Amino acid sequence: MKRIAFSSPTVGRDECIFCRIISRKAPANIVYEDDKYVAFLDTFPFSRGHTLVCPKEHGETIWDMKEADIAELFKVASKVSKAVVSAMGADGFRFVQNNGEAANQVVAHVHVHVIPVKMEDKGRFVERKRFTPEEMSAAAKTIRSEMSE
Ligand SMILES: [Zn+2]
Repeated sequence: MKRIAFSSPTVGRDECIFCRIISRKAPANIVYEDDKYVAFLDTFPFSRGHTLVCPKEHGETIWDMKEADIAELFKVASKVSKAVVSAMGADGFRFVQNNGEAANQVVAHVHVHVIPVKMEDKGRFVERKRFTPEEMSAAAKTIRSEMSE
């Protein structure tokens, strides 16, 4: 069976930006965390509230995870999606889970994108956006409070 891979050299844990976020060596707007999973806002979001859900244990693609952990990851992503949709007043959401460079996976640490969408964006090509640090932390705060409900 052909194994998908990154064509660029894989980074180690020390250089992995998500591992650095998990160990608090890099800043992020964290919206949820438990023993095994963490969720934080995407720095280059497709929409306000675009969140990434990752296992804390480093692995490049979903194939590096145990099946039970994959199930758990999507359970957490589902929980996060409810908070994101509610906090952002969205009308729907996307789960996007890219594996390998060919699939546009940018960071070599498994993650699920939770992208809230509004009806007005239906069928529209959406580009990545930039929000101010204040807008990002305000969005994270709203999502966090929805998570705790
Ligand atoms: Zn990592």
